[in-house]
Amino acid sequence: MNSFRFDHVIVGAGIIGLSTAFELLTRDVPAASIAVIDPAPVSGATRAAGGMLAPVAEIQYKQEPLYPLMVESGALFPEMLRRLSGYTSQETGYRTESTFVVAADRADATHLMELTDHQHDHSLHVQRLPLRHARAAEPALNPQLAGVVHIPGDHQINPSMYSATLLQVLRQTGVSLIDDTVTHLDCTFDEEGAVRHCHRVESDSAYFEVGASVYMCNGLGTSSVTGWYPAKELSPLKLRPVRGDMIRLRVAEGQEPPVGRVIRAFVEDRPVYIIPRTDSTIAIGATSREDMRTAPAVDGVFALLRDAIRIVPALEECEIIEITTGDRPGTPDDLPYLGLAGDNLVISTGYFRHGILLSALGAHAGADLGITGKTDFHISACDPYRHCDQRRKDLP
Ligand SMILES: Cc1cc2nc3c(=O)[nH]c(=O)nc-3n(C[C@H](O)[C@H](O)[C@H](O)COP(=O)(O)OP(=O)(O)OC[C@H]3O[C@@H](n4cnc5c(N)ncnc54)[C@H](O)[C@@H]3O)c2cc1C
Repeated sequence: MNSFRFDHVIVGAGIIGLSTAFELLTRDVPAASIAVIDPAPVSGATRAAGGMLAPVAEIQYKQEPLYPLMVESGALFPEMLRRLSGYTSQETGYRTESTFVVAADRADATHLMELTDHQHDHSLHVQRLPLRHARAAEPALNPQLAGVVHIPGDHQINPSMYSATLLQVLRQTGVSLIDDTVTHLDCTFDEEGAVRHCHRVESDSAYFEVGASVYMCNGLGTSSVTGWYPAKELSPLKLRPVRGDMIRLRVAEGQEPPVGRVIRAFVEDRPVYIIPRTDSTIAIGATSREDMRTAPAVDGVFALLRDAIRIVPALEECEIIEITTGDRPGTPDDLPYLGLAGDNLVISTGYFRHGILLSALGAHAGADLGITGKTDFHISACDPYRHCDQRRKDLP
């Protein structure tokens, strides 16, 4: 087996691992001391994601601990992207037009107004908008819609472009990007059996001695890496795949995209969103299903297209480029697992439906923990051990 030594070893090159590596880099951690290990970078949830940076529209009832994290992370993006633009002129697909959320019928309008009240109760910025004002801004909206709200602060980024740009910057600055699968962490444990320190990362073909910290940013793969808990079924992380189908369209040659901002909708209580990209393509998403179909599901894709066309009829004239399915790394309470195990093992996974939005906060807090062992971000609700009774290695 080959053996290497790095100060900072990041497992996983999805949006969380890449952003964390970039954050370390911009805190003057030498690029040569950082390794990112992944057999297939950007092959997980990040590849399929919509990329909405939507701390307001995305809130769901009874997930209050998540709201401030989403707002805080959304606010970190402009500065993070400003730093990224210091390294490259490559695009990220970041767009700051506001978002419209629309209701297809009267029942959907009631739902939308109740949600708006809930957003107001949490001091989130949402405005009800007369349909004629919405159609003045977006003439392709169906004139029969039953309600519209305007969310000025919900933006978007293109996850494929953004991750490609992060990868390019990491590569060009000399961060080691290693194509390999991590299998095991060599850790020491205290007398109570709790993990104390991770000193070596093992992959299919090499050992990586760790000078400073290890960052577990490998989404659904995190529970399969052994060594920091007793056995697979005893992983403290309760991760599960929540599938999502996404459709990509392009407008026919010579035509303009029918909408100029993210349009989210409720159609007979089903959510759908339409995202116009900087490259003139359009993404329509997303289903949410926990079934065995790993490829795009016919019923879900059919419903997405039908509902999106009901909201913006001109979408009918577009061409389909691709349909993808990704697995969100789901957790029981929708909150990520973000915190320390021992003194140098950063767990940063389980970002579920909001990983693109939360990647900025995840990267900042992860880098804080890896460099100093603490962070000022209020992430106690994200404790990686919150779904198990004990931190001990030896207890069943
Ligand atoms: C259809 C869909 C739409 C979405 N839309 C949005 C949205 O609009 N806004 C939003 O904020 N979020 C959205 N999400 C959620 C978001 O995509 C995820 O939360 C986020 O991508 C998680 O990123 P990650 O880096 O943790 O995981 P992933 O992107 O899954 O990356 C994990 C990486 O780890 C690697 N890996 C796994 N095991 C190992 C191992 N043992 N060793 C080394 N590497 C390993 C994998 O190869 C992979 O590259 C959406 C998700 C889906 C599926």
